[in-house]
Amino acid sequence: MVLPVSYVCRARRLASLLLFLAVSACGAGSHGQLTVGDKNANLTVNFSEKKALEKMEANSFADLGPGVDCASSRSPYYNDIAWIVDRINPALALRTDILPPVHGAQLLDNPPRSDNRIGVYLCSGMSANAYTIYRSVYLSNDFMAKLKTASPAWGGNEAFISALAFVAYHEMGHAALNHSAGKLRVGAQQFDLPQELQADQFAYDAMAAAGIGLNGSEMAKAAGI
Ligand SMILES: [Zn+2]
Repeated sequence: MVLPVSYVCRARRLASLLLFLAVSACGAGSHGQLTVGDKNANLTVNFSEKKALEKMEANSFADLGPGVDCASSRSPYYNDIAWIVDRINPALALRTDILPPVHGAQLLDNPPRSDNRIGVYLCSGMSANAYTIYRSVYLSNDFMAKLKTASPAWGGNEAFISALAFVAYHEMGHAALNHSAGKLRVGAQQFDLPQELQADQFAYDAMAAAGIGLNGSEMAKAAGI
């Protein structure tokens, strides 16, 4: 039996809904297939916002506090974070829903970051535990040392690496999902609760994709990420 095309399309849409798959080739308006992480639908940054955010990013070292050293290669956690960054890059390379695009992250000693990359810096002397502005992520060496000290009570080195991954991926979530543009639009000084929850979910998805256990995420939250 040959079904009319419209019937086939309706049936496929119903099946797609039931399977939580947004697959439809039934005409205009198709959004393609969902992949892991796409549920974190992010807002799109327009040209003037991009320029404003890049300017804020260029000035962001001043926001971190006086005398801050962000030469990542001097961090005791450089190798750990380099491994964590490497583990998220294959998943970031697959994201097609982020605009301007994010094709990966890179651990840097100095700006500028490459276009379409998230720059990650490991900093000593930061006042915050972690800080993200647009596509730049700053992680505090002092905070990571605190996590290291706390880790024996949470499962040792495996929990420590998991906690570092949660912190790094949470901040990369703020960066990839354009949360700084959201702040800019409402004049907020901090990310709001929905953004924090979205960044947490991004981190969980990234850790799952990277094959990193979640056992350190609660330690990171308890320590104040
Ligand atoms: Zn956050």
